[in-house]
Amino acid sequence: MTDDRAPGTPVSATATAVPAASVPTGTPLLRLTEVHSYYGNIHALQGISLDVFPGEIVTLLGANGAGKTTTLKTIHGLLRPRTGTIEFEGKDITTMPAHDHVRIGIGQSPEGRRIFSRMSVLENLQMGSYSRKDKGSLDDDFARVFELFPRLAERRTQHGGTLSGGEQQMLAIGRALMTRPKLLMLDEPSMGLAPILIELIFKITQDINHQGTTILLVEQNARMALGVADRAYVLQTGRIIKTGAGQALLEDEEVRKAYLGG
Ligand code: ATP
Repeated sequence: MTDDRAPGTPVSATATAVPAASVPTGTPLLRLTEVHSYYGNIHALQGISLDVFPGEIVTLLGANGAGKTTTLKTIHGLLRPRTGTIEFEGKDITTMPAHDHVRIGIGQSPEGRRIFSRMSVLENLQMGSYSRKDKGSLDDDFARVFELFPRLAERRTQHGGTLSGGEQQMLAIGRALMTRPKLLMLDEPSMGLAPILIELIFKITQDINHQGTTILLVEQNARMALGVADRAYVLQTGRIIKTGAGQALLEDEEVRKAYLGG
């Protein structure tokens, strides 16, 4: 696939771009080009093109049903696009089965957390490392997760199902980190959490990013997400309608009206 789309340029004929503070160059870690996905006859993604560059936090915003989760599912191979391409580190992974994604460095904390409620915190984290080939450095990975989430260290023997909502979210992110992803996809990590925990989750998301993990963040909490994102894409009914730097979109009038309460 030729790389003829300058980074940061509008991603479809109808998308508008607001100024991007600093637009990365080089090969994107993840690139979607004109991706169309369906559920039966429902045309859920209608030509999604987006880039995530190494080291970035990129957020996908949009109302309920805009296609955010479907975009993540499509990237992760859980839904095969009918047309369009998905590239990871410059390689075409459009038809790669979902179970191979962990191996190449794509990790996900899914919507609704999906932790194993009858397993302990430790066992849940071990499940994350299961598909890794290099078991040697597992201790380092546990240490990293427990440093990011001291609460999980305290509750390491407790069953997942007995954790609070915030702790379950931490566990879902921690489990994804155990796969040592190059790209971590987070689907609505703030959903259902109290404001103080939302702040904590966003702060930890930034910490994970500063440690070198690229992040694709799906959120309905637009204010917080734009606050931490380098760049953002706004989805509406399966299309990207706006893109730009997180800070610029925070100040964009249309975005303020639609997603930030004016
Ligand atoms: P939410 O925040 O509510 O999860 P979203 O932006 O993630 O919203 P999606 O869940 O990706 O939106 O949904 C995009 C479209 O696809 C919607 O019209 C939705 O009704 C439809 N859709 C999602 N999942 C399915 C499914 N399993 N079967 C049929 N249609 C679906």
